[in-house]
Amino acid sequence: MNYKIINGKLLVDEGHQIVIKEGDLYVRDKILSFIAPASEENFEVIDAKNKLIMPGLINMHSHAYMTLMRNYADDVEFSKWLFEGVMPVEDRLPAQAAYWSSLLAFSEMIRTGTTCFVDMHMYHRQSPLAAREAGMRGYIGRGLVGASLFEEGNPRFREALAEKEEFESDTLQFILSPHAIYSCGPGLLKEVAEQSRELGLLKQTHLSESITEVENCLKEHGKTPVEYLADLGFLDEQTILAHCVQMQGDDLDIIRNSGATIVTNPASNAKLGNGFAQAAEMVEKGINLCIGTDGAASNNTLNMFREMTLLSLIQKGIHHDPVSLPAETVVRAATVNAAKALGMKDRLGVIKEGAAADLIFLDLDTPSMFPANNILSSLCYSAGGSEVSTVMIDGKLVMRNRELLTIDMEKVYYEVNKAAETCL
Ligand SMILES: [Zn+2]
Repeated sequence: MNYKIINGKLLVDEGHQIVIKEGDLYVRDKILSFIAPASEENFEVIDAKNKLIMPGLINMHSHAYMTLMRNYADDVEFSKWLFEGVMPVEDRLPAQAAYWSSLLAFSEMIRTGTTCFVDMHMYHRQSPLAAREAGMRGYIGRGLVGASLFEEGNPRFREALAEKEEFESDTLQFILSPHAIYSCGPGLLKEVAEQSRELGLLKQTHLSESITEVENCLKEHGKTPVEYLADLGFLDEQTILAHCVQMQGDDLDIIRNSGATIVTNPASNAKLGNGFAQAAEMVEKGINLCIGTDGAASNNTLNMFREMTLLSLIQKGIHHDPVSLPAETVVRAATVNAAKALGMKDRLGVIKEGAAADLIFLDLDTPSMFPANNILSSLCYSAGGSEVSTVMIDGKLVMRNRELLTIDMEKVYYEVNKAAETCL
């Protein structure tokens, strides 16, 4: 289907600044255009009066299946959360339940304006199956652990490649996702770096999330986690680092010089008592900073609007500096910076001639957006996600006037409830 979107206000990033423009926007063969086609015969008209149309938000770090554990292991120590809360449930969870809890995740993402996500998952085929069903754009990685990708009894890398083979499409791409330096041996991390270069795949890992992780790494290797990964040849422009909360010494310079991206997850880091990332310093140093929600077991939402608000407010608070991380910087972190990290600059995260048609429509005639005299500020400070009424991904409407078009929520609620009753 081709669309002509009329009467809307468009959020356009002109590089030096983000501006609001008015005018018709066309979606032709899944691609955005400002240029009227020779014939508008096959174009459905969408009237976007009183709507802001902006690029869909990109959640750069999630574990979609974890919605099952939303509000489950709260207000406990980090190690207790992981080893006594999350991991035993993961062991009990049938793969099929991960499919339904991933669909629950995508319904929440769509409702709150996320059109693209980067996922580390644990259950073979379930995340890509659910993403395809929901019509999400995703960069998906089977979580990898162990001493080697090729060791006997460790099928995860094979499964990662099999998922790529089966599901790769215009909207689903696959990445390598070694879990962390404490769950992956140095051999495996080196192998991932090699495979990433050989296969041209992005890689994502958790890094320097907690003080314990950094202390253990210093004790074991005499290096910070960042130095350790750098020495293994893991850090480059194809690398996405989730968290980076506990940075020491030259860590930030090493990351900047490598061209790797950092994904900050302010809610998860704060809630697990891990601290606050030096996000403002990261931006000052010229590091590509993106935003993620992490899983619903540690956030407990997948709402990027809440994450944008938290990111900016926390930085202003800890630096005693209201100028720290302004709205425009934060909106960019959730859009264009993410596109850059994914190798999709000018294709994702922007409303631009030739970009992919990943759009969200927000109601402007709603209290949190009113008066609409500074829309960029609204997006960072007062919007909460419920303003999103219509969502298009890859030229396809997945939500229209708040009605989800690809996900049967009754079925999702029923199946997730059933899994919760048996697994939690
Ligand atoms: Zn995570």
